[in-house]
Amino acid sequence: MFYVLILASLALVLWVLVLLGRRRPPPVRMPSDDSGKPRIVILGGGFAGIYTAAALEALVRDDFEIVLVSKENHFVFQPLLPEVISGKSGLVDVVSPIRRLLPRTELHVREVEAIDLASQTVTTSTGFHPHPHVLRYEHLVFALGTVTDFRGLRGLPEHAFPFKNLTDALTLRNHIIRALEEAAIEQHDMMLRKRLLTFVVAGGGFSGVEVCAELNDFVRHVAGSYRGIDPKEIRVVLVHSQDRILPEMKEKLALFAQRLLRARGVEILLNARLKAATGEAALLGDGSVIETRTLVSTVPASAHPLIDALALPKTKNGRVEVDATLAVKGLTNVWAVGDCASVPAPDGGIAPPTAQHATRQAEVLAQNIAAKMRGGTLKPFAFKGLGKMGSLGRQSAVAEVLGIPVSGFLAWFLWRTIYLMKIPGWGRRVKVAASWTLDLFLPPELVELKLAGTIGVTQEHFEPGQKVFHQGDVGDRVYIILTGKVDVLRDDRRIASLGRGEFFGETALLRETSRNATVRCVEPLDVLALPKREFSVLSANLPELRRSFEAKSAERAPADVTAPS
Ligand SMILES: Cc1cc2nc3c(=O)[nH]c(=O)nc-3n(C[C@H](O)[C@H](O)[C@H](O)COP(=O)(O)OP(=O)(O)OC[C@H]3O[C@@H](n4cnc5c(N)ncnc54)[C@H](O)[C@@H]3O)c2cc1C
Repeated sequence: MFYVLILASLALVLWVLVLLGRRRPPPVRMPSDDSGKPRIVILGGGFAGIYTAAALEALVRDDFEIVLVSKENHFVFQPLLPEVISGKSGLVDVVSPIRRLLPRTELHVREVEAIDLASQTVTTSTGFHPHPHVLRYEHLVFALGTVTDFRGLRGLPEHAFPFKNLTDALTLRNHIIRALEEAAIEQHDMMLRKRLLTFVVAGGGFSGVEVCAELNDFVRHVAGSYRGIDPKEIRVVLVHSQDRILPEMKEKLALFAQRLLRARGVEILLNARLKAATGEAALLGDGSVIETRTLVSTVPASAHPLIDALALPKTKNGRVEVDATLAVKGLTNVWAVGDCASVPAPDGGIAPPTAQHATRQAEVLAQNIAAKMRGGTLKPFAFKGLGKMGSLGRQSAVAEVLGIPVSGFLAWFLWRTIYLMKIPGWGRRVKVAASWTLDLFLPPELVELKLAGTIGVTQEHFEPGQKVFHQGDVGDRVYIILTGKVDVLRDDRRIASLGRGEFFGETALLRETSRNATVRCVEPLDVLALPKREFSVLSANLPELRRSFEAKSAERAPADVTAPS
């Protein structure tokens, strides 16, 4: 009885401790523009943006507002992305919800559309309703990373798979499974079968090698599940422009990686450059052709288009030039961090675009912003890097840790342990560790997840009284009436009625202005909605179509009285 009482008391004390230890949720606050507090706006929810916001949350209390704008509501742990191909890391294993990571930051899940440095504002894309959304700032942090840009490489935008974010990883995985499914039943066209079973990765840097290793392991492993595929038919080719892969690493490690990948069936083409692509082949610089339906390209990343368009000091490759304190040169209270920034390294060079550097830069930047606001001293970025690591799949890797080269199983064990500890949150770490352990014993998943695309023309329905859009909204799409009627209202006064076969909303898109009228549904209404991006593509490539929209807009718009823009 005595022991039972002691155990019960201990359990009670533990329970109270757990309750006390729980983080109290921050008070509910509506996003507003009038708090009067200085505001730091961080653009981008990758390593640089998230770690800057997290460090700021720890440094300041309520004396200023932190707002983070990110296209997605999750943070992607990019080093594990290649494992999504093989399913060793599940989709949710590599992402963390930003709201949980940053409880005191105001998150805007929107796309940044425009930045006005003169008026210190950021405009984000429209959400469910096309209201203009403008954020003012006192401090602005660029953490937008870089983008994949295949422009100038013939056929790559149409036919090559990029590999930069979660959607890329999932799209590639689905495509690979689709190719295997097709090959397994293709008995008539032997060339098609060959193309379906040939997988080409261009780029022998870290991400190219990791993608190639995972892809190779995956297709060879799952081939056994297809009665119609002989694993000997599978070809995986790595194309690299230099005389050895992994140029960032010591030669000894790169040669180890080459030997290992070749032993596992990868053909490595060195001093070979991808020049162009079609839907059926990768074309190399020396004129040779690799017949394939799967081409992945990890070409070096390009400058972010938003940064490209701004008058900022930039290097030749489009990265924003900052001084050692991460301040953008020549500007006040504008900072840049991570892959989009060209940050001076302590050895006199430029810090490499890696997550380990982005996170360290973020910590320095947060301290400097806090110091700037409170009148303290700014400190320079002085991190020299701890090492480099690259996974080669199936329990092998190469690593240089504090200058010491390690390869094989030990490097792989280090790679996994270090990245496991870097994944944000203990809950996620436990899940990933469990999934990695199970993965040692279970066969890889072969499920193809078909996701319907959300872009393109959509059909929408409105009921009488409902507004399709409001005067002053941002112009985000053109509408074509399939059935029903609408009234056009300017300042609450009816100025026109439109019905079946007519369209509206074109002027705001053609002239880049806001809506000059409200459109209200008067009879049950079905419309085709053509988003701005698709409208721009169509009207840029079909001059006749553009002319007819322009003519209608001009006819309606000189005094802008009859049709809504
Ligand atoms: C496959 C792969 C593997 C990698 N492996 C490693 C590794 O093992 N070790 C390592 O150190 N580094 C690795 N890296 C590099 C590392 O991931 C990057 O250096 C790091 O992600 C840079 O962080 P960032 O925040 O600057 O950019 P990103 O992580 O690219 O973040 C940019 C953010 O900006 C957001 N964004 C972009 N445009 C807009 C917009 N218009 N509106 C709103 N939001 C926007 C994006 O959604 C994203 O959240 C890897 C990269 C890849 C692609």
